[in-house]
Amino acid sequence: MKPKHDLITVEGVSVIFRRGWPSRERVEAVAGVSLTIPEGGILALVGETGSGKTTLGKLVAGLYRPTRGRVLFRGQELRAMDRRAFLEYRRAVQLVHQDAFAALNPVRTVYQSLKAPLLHHRIARNDREAREQAARLLEQVGLTPPELFLDKYPHQLSGGQRQRVLLARALTVQPRLIVADEPVSMVDVSLRLSILQLLRELNRRLGIAILYITHDLATARYLAEEGQVAVMYLGKIVEYGAFREVLGDPRHPYLQALLSAVPVPDPRAARAIRPVALREIEPPDPRRPPPGCRFHPRCPYAQPICRETPPALEGPADHQVACHFAREIPPWRPPSAVSPSPWA
Ligand code: SF4
Repeated sequence: MKPKHDLITVEGVSVIFRRGWPSRERVEAVAGVSLTIPEGGILALVGETGSGKTTLGKLVAGLYRPTRGRVLFRGQELRAMDRRAFLEYRRAVQLVHQDAFAALNPVRTVYQSLKAPLLHHRIARNDREAREQAARLLEQVGLTPPELFLDKYPHQLSGGQRQRVLLARALTVQPRLIVADEPVSMVDVSLRLSILQLLRELNRRLGIAILYITHDLATARYLAEEGQVAVMYLGKIVEYGAFREVLGDPRHPYLQALLSAVPVPDPRAARAIRPVALREIEPPDPRRPPPGCRFHPRCPYAQPICRETPPALEGPADHQVACHFAREIPPWRPPSAVSPSPWA
């Protein structure tokens, strides 16, 4: 039976940072975003650097508070939670960082890093139980035999192994959602697939929902093809819905431009791609986002209304677009008819 509430609901959330004195510069990193993550679902949050996707991920993980709007966990607003409910939420939602080396204490062994949350949350009652459970967690993330890894320090592990230790640490508290922020961007290319496979396995086998934050559409597709995708640009979601629907018929010029820039190994397929030429390469300064549609200075289809009126995110639940001319701009198709492609 479908649960009554989604695991996470984000409603009209904005996050505004202020910095510097006396100017108190204002940066709206997330601007009026709404989305949901169902129990056991996968949502890929895609966007370039500075789009606000990491801020949104940290907001979902409870590390930032919204300046406006609200975040709900299983239907309960975070701000209205008592201490016990909030601790349960913080346990249920675990953040896995991009930089595994920085996220692990360099003077703690793998076992010590896993033991701390196991004892703190009373999942293990003593050292012996903690060591047994730590070994089981390492097996779960593919670090076998665990005896080889338990007493190693982070600098004795490869990037992929460190990322697996981070995942094992997240699993110590039996989470319901893992917020994985660019988990493979600092891992050797040859090991990326195995980390993504592990995330997919944790989702399928243990029913853990995944919020996968990335700038890489190909890895997003690998993980979230049967889930959802949200494309962010300068703090706003510009396209959102079921992954297959959105990537099968991208309507926003920004997503079309991202897709047309994905390298394709087959030269015949590459020639068949219709490039979407942006009017400007550099994104605008996030401290001074353009009025109206934030994408208008770069958009090849911009019209006068785009400079004045922000488009709303509209459409059926499985495919929403924030563009005044989503129905008029030419469709963009992946070159699958010509050759196998990353999108075929
Ligand atoms: Fe381009 Fe206008 Fe659509 Fe924005 S609203 S993406 S500027 S056509």
